[in-house]
Amino acid sequence: MSRVLRVLLTLVLGLALVLSPGVARAELVDIPYTVVRGDTGRRIARRFGLTYAELVALNEGHSLERLRVGESIVVGRGHRHVHRVHAGESLSDIAGRYRVSLAELQRWNVGLRPARLARGQEIVLYSDREEPPSESVGEVDDGSLVNGIALPPHPGYVVRHRERTFLTLEAADRLLHAFDRLRDEDEDAPRVQIGDASRARGGPLDQHRSHQSGRDVDIDYFYRRCRETCGHHRLTADQLDADRQWRLIEPWLREGAVEYIFIDHALQEPLYEAARRAGASRNDLSRWFQWPRAIDVRVGVIRHVPSHADHMHVRFTCAPHDTGCVPSDGRDPRHE
Ligand SMILES: [Zn+2]
Repeated sequence: MSRVLRVLLTLVLGLALVLSPGVARAELVDIPYTVVRGDTGRRIARRFGLTYAELVALNEGHSLERLRVGESIVVGRGHRHVHRVHAGESLSDIAGRYRVSLAELQRWNVGLRPARLARGQEIVLYSDREEPPSESVGEVDDGSLVNGIALPPHPGYVVRHRERTFLTLEAADRLLHAFDRLRDEDEDAPRVQIGDASRARGGPLDQHRSHQSGRDVDIDYFYRRCRETCGHHRLTADQLDADRQWRLIEPWLREGAVEYIFIDHALQEPLYEAARRAGASRNDLSRWFQWPRAIDVRVGVIRHVPSHADHMHVRFTCAPHDTGCVPSDGRDPRHE
């Protein structure tokens, strides 16, 4: 994809973040610091990786020559977030999510005791992240979504119901990248329709058992003779546009980005052949596909679950920092 298009997409994603309910972008503000005994302007500047001139510039009209203990000065600019602690969350989890240090968290929250975090406790922090990190919480069939984003528009797909297409930022990113890549290699690819992901805050979604935690999404198939948009149609094996379908999902499999992709057993055969044509090794094929094993053999990332002849269901893995996310690997996904 051209750089211009990529920049545009970034803007669109940014706009989607601004417009999504539940995602408050944090204002860029001065980062305060409270002077302690022994501080001098020069020492403080050094501690925050600033030159003295930079520190002076940040504190225009405020003398740094005679600092008093307890006085507040400015040591940088950042996005101010108030994070509410979840059950089981540690201070280093929070530091990791927002890309700040433990020392910073303690400095911004005087009296904070890392071993005694209470659920719901508010932690003030300043981060270079504008949007709060999203989180997939709990299990796919008993979970929720925090700071999810509505899937932004993209030339590669149409979204059926915006209010049912929320994902974690990571999952949305993986989806967008896959469609970016597909367009790079295959300019003529038609659009596909995206069905349900999650609601803005996750939780139960009618007609689904899973889809509760922002990492499940239903995507219609590419099929032969599909015009501008490939919509919701029940397909037979010979109707699937398997090479194109494979191009879309292959990177997710290679990168270990998906726990499962539910695809009707009969549609797995042409997809398997497409994967083989595209150079997948015997090992990869065996790991990724249930096919050519029988419909009741519960192995493979790509596997049969009833009612997936008209769309595939993609379940992304938990993001590394997402400590409240419960993987569903190994559980029998027979009913979705
Ligand atoms: Zn689904």
